[in-house]
Amino acid sequence: MELIDTHCHLTFDELAGDVPAIVERSKAAGVTAWITVGTDPNENQKAIELANKFANMYAAVGIHPHDAKTVTVGTIAQLKELAQNEKAVAIGETGLDYHYDLSLHEDQRRVFAQHLELAAELNLPVIIHSRKAFDETIEILDRHGQDVKKIVFHCFSGSAEQAKIILSKGYHISFTGVVTFKNANRTREAAKVVPLDRLMLETDCPYMSPEPMRKQKINEPAFLIHTAKFLADLKGMDLSDFAQATTTTTKAFFALPV
Ligand SMILES: [Zn+2]
Ligand SMILES: [Zn+2]
Repeated sequence: MELIDTHCHLTFDELAGDVPAIVERSKAAGVTAWITVGTDPNENQKAIELANKFANMYAAVGIHPHDAKTVTVGTIAQLKELAQNEKAVAIGETGLDYHYDLSLHEDQRRVFAQHLELAAELNLPVIIHSRKAFDETIEILDRHGQDVKKIVFHCFSGSAEQAKIILSKGYHISFTGVVTFKNANRTREAAKVVPLDRLMLETDCPYMSPEPMRKQKINEPAFLIHTAKFLADLKGMDLSDFAQATTTTTKAFFALPV
C-alpha cells in the first residue's frame, strides 16, 4: 500500500529534529511520500533543503496568510526562485485566515493574489488555506485564479454545500484527521460528496492528530493511516482500493513521478 501525505510541516520545531525516524515510521505505516509545506521565507528554504535530502519527499513554498503583513517584493522573488527547484511541486500554503486574523485582510488578499499569479506563471498547483473566509476565498480565486490549472483546499472542514461549490470550480479537496473527530459531522458529510478523483489526504502535522491518536499531541505522517482507514470506511471501500485511488489522484495533481 502506498499513501501520500500531501501536507505536512516536517521543518517545524516539533518534528525537524527527528525526520529520519519519522520517515521510517511513516514508511512502515504505508505512507511512502510526503509534501512538506513552507509557511514563511525561512521555512520555505528549509522545506526545499529537506525535500532534497529524501527520496519521495517534495516541497511546497508559500507565505501563510498569518504572515501576509511581512511580504515584500523580495519575498515573492525568493518564492519564485525556490519554486523552480526540482523538488518544489506546488505554491502554498496561501489563502485567507480570518479566524486568527494575524494580518490585515487587505494584506492577506493582496498576497493571496500574488501567489495565484506566480503559480500561473510557473504552471504549478496551489495549496489553499482558508479559514472563516470561504466566500472571499472563492471570490479571489474567481478573480485571480483563472490561469491556475490545479487548486486544492487543504485541511477542509467546511460543509457539503461548500465542498460542492469547490468541486464545481474544478478544484480538489484535502482532508486531515479533523474528519475523524467526534464533533466533525459536518466535515464527514462533506467528505461523502467528494469523489475520489478530487480527494487527497494530509496530516497537517505537527497539528491535527487523528483519532485514535488524538491524545498524542504531536502528529506525524505515520498517523495518516488512521485518516485513510476512517475515510475508506466512510466511503464503504477497502482501504487498499481507497489508497490506490487517492494516491493516483495525488500523483496526477502534483505531477509526482510514478
Ligand atoms: Zn493551513
Ligand atoms: Zn499547513
